[in-house]
Amino acid sequence: MSKKIQVLFAAGAVSLAAVVAGTWLLAPEPVQPTVVLVVLDTVRADHLSVCGYGRRTSPTLEALVANGAQISCGAISPGAWTLPSHASFFTGVMPVEHRAHSISTGIDSFKGGGNRARPLDQKLPTIAERFRDMGYETALVSANPVVGPSMGLDRGFDSLDVADRFGRYTSSRWQPTVDLFLDHRDPTVPQFLAVNIADAHQPWGAPPASLEWASEYGVGISYSKGNREGDYSTYLRGEMDPLRAPRFEEQVVEAYDAAVFKADENLAYFLDKLLQQGFCDAAGCRVIITSDHGELLGDQGLLDHGHYAYQANVEVPLIVAQLGGPPELEWEDIDLPERISAVVVHDVLLTGRLPSPLPPVQVIAWPHARRCANLDGAAFCNLQAAIWEGDEKLIWDEGQVTAYDLSKDPNELQGSAAATTDELAKLAKSGKRDGRDDSKTDITVTEMLKAAGYLE
Ligand SMILES: [Zn+2]
Repeated sequence: MSKKIQVLFAAGAVSLAAVVAGTWLLAPEPVQPTVVLVVLDTVRADHLSVCGYGRRTSPTLEALVANGAQISCGAISPGAWTLPSHASFFTGVMPVEHRAHSISTGIDSFKGGGNRARPLDQKLPTIAERFRDMGYETALVSANPVVGPSMGLDRGFDSLDVADRFGRYTSSRWQPTVDLFLDHRDPTVPQFLAVNIADAHQPWGAPPASLEWASEYGVGISYSKGNREGDYSTYLRGEMDPLRAPRFEEQVVEAYDAAVFKADENLAYFLDKLLQQGFCDAAGCRVIITSDHGELLGDQGLLDHGHYAYQANVEVPLIVAQLGGPPELEWEDIDLPERISAVVVHDVLLTGRLPSPLPPVQVIAWPHARRCANLDGAAFCNLQAAIWEGDEKLIWDEGQVTAYDLSKDPNELQGSAAATTDELAKLAKSGKRDGRDDSKTDITVTEMLKAAGYLE
């Protein structure tokens, strides 16, 4: 880590002039700020130390917040996996509107064709196109292969560097990727940079012994999703040896936490480099950090992500920060509510303000036909839709509605049966409709996802 960011990130060692929380106005300024979206892929809020988690998983985020960045630890990702959430970040509309998500047709008569996904509709304008219209250069670097051309998520970016598989740009391989990405950019030209850091995405390496909380039992976790007798399938079918299951869960959590720590460390490298290269000198860097979904780590007896509306899968951090820039610039404060849909990222990046009124907090999680079949119907088979009012949450699961009070029951262990509401029924109906196959679904997308290791 460079000297500059060591100073910046050493808690308490920084003046608020160096890191100013707040928001911004793009248009009237003679010098335009660098605008940055960082998606920490697969990072659930409740496993971040900055959100109160016991293990120190996020010192970089802690330093940002200690120096004035604003944070919500109760943001809800617009989608339940990478594609629908990134499509929402890039377009500002929810998955039922942009329709880039899983297709669940054939769940009852699955014959082995795999899950498929619908790429982003080419007619919807993207945030990168908007920034380009405003005179910005636009660039994407993604360690997640889904966030790129195959899913229509590259539109509007002047340049892009997308990993061709998970692991290509993670761990120590992230640093040369960032070097290449930023060394060729001109910090005197306004830049919109979209960044996906995928260290927290499976597979996870063994927790390094250098982590103070690492145990001697820590191992790397790489799920073998197609193996019916492997840990993944056995656990999800509820058939793992009860003597082994608790240790397995501990190992999953520990490997995940170490991966989150690595994502936070790689975030520091990126921000450090941004400062070093002068991107934040003239008008500052306006940075939003969030995640596209969480990860089930034995919660509800489930693993993995993408197909459930439970908090573990959809509750993410949302952080608004500013790095550098002259202190005399006029900032407009953002008041981030604790419960908010992370789809607002799009508007805040573009305008520096929260949309008004705020969008409803809701999510739809579509099932996964192949996994459902592989697991003999034990998991991944249902459509779920959920809505939130603060800590009050309703989940619709194939017609059964459960209410949770998250203030008393954050892990959703004590739900009670409830009646559906018009809003929830409408959302679930949209989910059913939009999960149907249509001619726009591209079979090559499935092949790409398989090649990338995203589908088994
Ligand atoms: Zn993701």
